[in-house]
This record gives sequence, structure tokens and C-alpha cells, in this order.
Amino acid sequence: MSNTLDEKLEPLYQTVINRNPGEAEFHQAVHEVLESLGPVLVKYPEFGRHKIIERICEPERQIIFRVPWMDDNNEVQINRGFRVQFNSALGPYKGGIRFHPSVYLGVVKFLGFEQIFKNGLTGMPIGGAKGGSDFDPKGKSENEIMRFCQSFMTELQRHTGEYTDVPAGDIGVGTREVGYLFGQYKRITNRYESGVLTGKGLDWGGALARTEATGYGTVYFLNEMLKARGDALEGKTCIVSGSGNVAIYAISKLQELGAKVVACSDSNGFIHDPDGLDLALVKQIKEVERRRIKEYAKQKNGARYLAKGRIWSVPCDIALPCATQNELNGKDAQELIKNGCIAVAEGANMPSTPEAVDAFLNTGIAYGPGKAANAGGVATSALEMQQNASRDVWSFEFTDKRLSEIMTGIHQRCYETAEEFGTPGNYVNGANIAGFIKVAKAMVALGLI
Ligand code: GLU
Repeated sequence: MSNTLDEKLEPLYQTVINRNPGEAEFHQAVHEVLESLGPVLVKYPEFGRHKIIERICEPERQIIFRVPWMDDNNEVQINRGFRVQFNSALGPYKGGIRFHPSVYLGVVKFLGFEQIFKNGLTGMPIGGAKGGSDFDPKGKSENEIMRFCQSFMTELQRHTGEYTDVPAGDIGVGTREVGYLFGQYKRITNRYESGVLTGKGLDWGGALARTEATGYGTVYFLNEMLKARGDALEGKTCIVSGSGNVAIYAISKLQELGAKVVACSDSNGFIHDPDGLDLALVKQIKEVERRRIKEYAKQKNGARYLAKGRIWSVPCDIALPCATQNELNGKDAQELIKNGCIAVAEGANMPSTPEAVDAFLNTGIAYGPGKAANAGGVATSALEMQQNASRDVWSFEFTDKRLSEIMTGIHQRCYETAEEFGTPGNYVNGANIAGFIKVAKAMVALGLI
């Protein structure tokens, strides 16, 4: 890790490492939050007395389970499923499910840990959790995906419920998968409990604007950061990594607000289109045909596909990492800064390595960390839960307006907290401290839980 911790916090961090060996991503996420908390313990000595940090770093419950399923060749396959129910001081556990071969306990824990503070920052009554499996959806048939989801939920349903734990999507889990999970939950429990999952389809309890929310929200947050510096999105050149749900709707909102997006990517490589991306074509390739992004360059004049190299070397004013953790390293950050990048907003969770974060903070560019910038997704999940609880359906415009207000509120909370703690403009400190204080106060109030 790049920075040393305060002398009170270093032993706490060592304890986390010793209790969770080999979980590098979780260690990284904890370190990054603890780096901000020294002054908080001075201002709120009760948090130390109540051992809030020690408690917050230990998940309330961790579930690991076998997921057996039958592939199309009638062969039995076995994957591992996870749900880490990290913290329920603010509300039922809430957080997505990720299907990706890189998923193991350390990844689920880092995501669940981030989710506690992210959810706290939204101001909505939701606790923090995350789940997933090392199942790789790539190349699987529709039937295989369905059988896997059904098997996954057959176990998970023991631990979820509208008032207990409300999963949603993440990488590899979209509306289709949430549908199969919800169908299985409904069948096993004999309850049409809409509020047990979010990210549902519009015909069966989903919320308008939930699909767009993470990407849109990231751009709303970015817009607020620029406004705070007397700048605006209009005319800016942007690059967006990824080409999944978050990236697509970030691109869409950037274009709507007058920015030009010249690059996006998938796990194999990236496309560069200096004239500006044709989003309809990206959507056709990724969402309808479910193919790789390199198809874009074959179909669009002037665009090129690069299987080697880094998307971050494409010159831009603004970069939005919207793919996955640690996708942007210290060298990438230096290159972005050298090329004149003025702002970074994270649609993904922890996409920048600690070295990259340091580079952004030391240069003083506008840097919006994921737990603040991408909180619009989970915030709109909470709006979906509200609609399910009241058996109501809100319009797209109303939900989008709420999302935009929530993002403005998160920005303001981060901005003011960073100022209050003597680091103006540092959204990392702002987000970590504001999210932590919210959860910590609830934990003190609820007694020794
Ligand atoms: N997976 C998303 C996140 O990282 C959304 C979670 C949710 O909607 O519960 O915040």
C-alpha cells in the first residue's frame, strides 16, 4: 500500500490482514478507507471506545456454498457461491451479485466493504453486502445460465428476503440473470416478494431508470465535480473503459450533455473512434448480439481496435473507468495527467490502484472515487425497493430526477466533509469519512451488535 497509516490504525489494519490472509483486494479496500479515518477518531472518541473500526472490518456473516449445475453436455459442473453480509446497521443488507471467474472471498469482501460506505453515503436505509460466484457466463448457453442461476438461488434464498438481504446485479449479472434468480426465489418460497431483488425487469417489479442509473449517476457526480471548479462537460473529450451496462449509460449521458466519447473497451482490448462513438452500434454489438467490442471497428469508418496497449493512453480531458477493479494503475494515471486529463469519475468499484489514486490526489485533478461516483446504481435500487413496498410504479422522469438529486446530495456531502476535515477537494476523504460517520453513529446507537 502506498501511504502509511496513523499509529492507532496500523495495528487495526494488521489485524485485518492476519484475520483475512491472502485477500489482497479486501486489504486494499480496508487500507484505503483507514487512510482517511485518523482525524475522525480524534473528533469522535466514542468510535474508538466502541471499537467501531474493528467491528466494521469484520463481516456480520459470510456464506460460502456449493453450486452444482448440469451443462448442455449433461455433465455435472460445480462452482462456488458467496454472500458476504457485511453490515446491517442502516438497513437490510444490500449489494450486487457478480459472476466472473476472478470471484473469490477476497473480491466479494472488498466489494461488500465498499458497499457499506457507498450505501451509507446515499442517505438511503440500506446496509452493505455483496455476493457472487466464480462461474464464467462467457460462452454459456441461455439454458446453462438459467440452470446455474436456479441452483445459485436454491441455496441463496435461505439467506435473503425483503427485510433481510436484497441482492441485485453486478458484473455478469443483468436483468436476464436477476429474472432467473427471482423466478427461483418465487418458486421455492411461494411468495411474490418483489422487494427481495432489485434490477428486475420492468414487467415484473423493476424500476424505470434502474438500468441507466449507475452510468447516469456517475456522470451526474462528474458534472457536480466540474461545476464545483467552475467548469462543465460541454465539448470535453472523454474515454470510458468497459462496454457493459455501466459504461453504456455513462457514454449515453456524457453524449447527451455535450461531451465527445472517443474510446471504450472490453476485457480483450479497446476501440478508438476519434469522431466520437456511435452508441447505437456499441449497444447493438454488446447488448443485442452479445459479441466482442472489436466488431465495432469492422463496422465503423475511422475507428480502430487495439488488442494491445492501454485505453488510458488515448488523450482525453476526462476518464471514466467503468470496467473492473485495479484496471487503472500508477503508470496509466501518470499518462492521463501528462496528456491533460482534468477529471476522473469511477463507474466501477475500486478501478484505480492505490498508486493511481495517489497520483490523482497529488496532482489535484477532480477525482471521484467509485463509492461516491457510482452510488447511483444502488441508490436507484433503493428507489426500486420503495416502489415495490408501496406497490407503485414511478415514471422514468421522476426516478431519474430523484437519482440526480441523490447524486448532487452525495457530492455535497463529500465536498463539505472533505473541507471540514481539512482536505478541500479530496473526494476520497470526503466519501470515506462521510460514509463511515453515518454507519458508525448508527452502530453506536444500536448497542453492541
Ligand atoms: N452492483 C452495484 C454496486 O456496485 C449495485 C448494487 C445494488 O443495486 O444493490 O453498487
